[in-house]
Parts: sequence; structure tokens; C-alpha cells
Amino acid sequence: MSLVIVGSLAFDTIQTPSERREKIVGGSGTYCSLAASFFTRPRIVGVVGEDFPKDVLALFKRKKIDVRGLEVRRGKTFHWEGHYGHDPNQRETIRTELNVFGDFRPKLPAPYRASDIVFLANIDPGLHNDILSQLKKPALVAMDTIKLWITTKPGVLWRALEKVDILFVNDEEVRLLTGETNLVKAAKKIQSAGPRLLVAKKGEHGAIVFGRDFVFGVLGRLCENVVDPTGAGDSFAGGFLGYLDKMGKLTRPNLRRAAVYGSVLASFAIEDFGVGRLKTLQPAEIEERFLEFRRLVAF
Ligand code: AMP
Repeated sequence: MSLVIVGSLAFDTIQTPSERREKIVGGSGTYCSLAASFFTRPRIVGVVGEDFPKDVLALFKRKKIDVRGLEVRRGKTFHWEGHYGHDPNQRETIRTELNVFGDFRPKLPAPYRASDIVFLANIDPGLHNDILSQLKKPALVAMDTIKLWITTKPGVLWRALEKVDILFVNDEEVRLLTGETNLVKAAKKIQSAGPRLLVAKKGEHGAIVFGRDFVFGVLGRLCENVVDPTGAGDSFAGGFLGYLDKMGKLTRPNLRRAAVYGSVLASFAIEDFGVGRLKTLQPAEIEERFLEFRRLVAF
């Protein structure tokens, strides 16, 4: 199979209760493709400015991420600033400077057009139709979204959902999107709009996968020291979709394991600022933690 990820590549300024980091590399597409690279050879579509570090592009290549869909444009890379308080599940967006991302019109290179899985990672839902029309016949369309699009473009977002198979959102976004506080009712509302699967992420507590006739829950790994929660959601999606892409079939056991791998990848992403931990992560560590998850819930 093949996975194409359309998302942001960014400089993030992050403030946690104990530290501040200025302009470190981040972005939904960055986290997601690094996480997916442990399972498959993801194809990335995005845009960066000339200021984007060359060593990160080299890292992508080392990780066998296909960067033919990455545009380098004159100007500055997208910059986002987020602050966290003592609850890692809550964050405040302080600044969003779109820069070259502002007029980004994703263009899929010809070899990407036959991709089986497409992940629309946190991009303007108004771009979805154009991206989907460039693909031949993807077997699976997945998307993630954020508060910004739910509040500013709800109509466009609901229409975009009609063409989506898997939606990844956190529980706050589920409530905001549906106006429902009950997660089961909210899941039904979302599924009636299109997606057959809703992955409701619950931050440090894990995630719940709602299928049409099954539910699966995965815990978050108990972590004593969350260094930087940024990118946890994108790493979850990268692990989840990367594993599905590797396995090739959307069976229930595969979906369950995909959710565990998603949680495993997210648990590593939060151990350091930015993509620091994903850079050093080894496949054996992923397998070890996968088994740790199994022991945690076996009874
Ligand atoms: P996550 O923590 O997984 O929800 O995603 C965090 C990433 O999303 C950060 O690295 C940001 O650069 C990126 N991000 C924040 N706002 C936007 C936006 N409006 N569009 C695209 N990416 C964004």
C-alpha cells in the first residue's frame, strides 16, 4: 500500500510551565510522517520557506520519507506558538503566522496519485476537494482537524466529512464539532455525516476508536514527565495509518493494533521538545512499548 500525508511543516514556539523553546521544527505533516516512517515509506505534501533547516530535509530522506511533494518556496516557513499550563491536555494558541503556508495549494506529484491512503493532516478543509480530485481512487481517506477550522469553517468542514473514512479528533473537538457532550452520541452524529471510524483522542488518557458496530479503547502510556505534548495527535495518526498501510488490510485486529501503535508513537513524541524523540527512536523501543501496553491492559 502507500500513504500520502498532506500537512504543515512548521517552526513552533512552545512554552510549557518549565521551559520555552523558540522556533523548533514541528508541523502536523512533520510529526505524522516521522511517526509513520517506522512502518512504511510515507509520501509528504507540504510547503516550507527557504529558512527550513536542510538537516531536517536530510532526516526525512534518511527515514525514507518521500519528499517529492515538498515545495520549497521563497519566504518564511509557517510559524505557530502554543502555550501549555500544568494540564498537558489544554493548550492555548498564541500566534499563527501562515507565511508560505498561507496560499498553499497542495499539488500531488504524478507518482503520488495512485496512493491508497491519504491523510489530510490539519489543513484547511476547503482544500480537501482539490486534493481528493488529484487522487485516483484512495482506499482510505483520513483527516484530522482543529478548533480553528471547527469554529471558522463549520459548514465546509461538515461537507468535507462526507468524503472521509477515518476522522481523528480530540474529545474537546468532538464536543465543539457536534455540540454533544456525550461521546457516544457525538460519534453517531459524526458517523452519520460520513466517517466509518472516529478516533476520539483523549490526550494523556488514550483514545477510543468508534466503528459502526464496534468500539475499541486504548490507554495512553502513563508518563511521569511530559516534556512537550505538541505533535502527540499527529504522531498518533502517523503510527496508526503507517501501521495500517504496512498491513494492507482494514481488519478489526489490524485497527486495534493500529490504535495501540498510534498511542505508542504519541507516548514517545511527548518525551522531548519538538521531534527530538522521534529522531532518536529505534524500532525495538516501539515493539518493547507495544508489549508494555499489552501487559498494562491484560487481565
Ligand atoms: P498536535 O499537537 O498533534 O495537535 O499538532 C501540533 C502541530 O500542529 C504543531 O507542530 C503546529 O505546527 C501544527 N499547527 C498548529 N496550527 C496549525 C494550523 N492552523 N494549520 C496547520 N498546522 C498547524
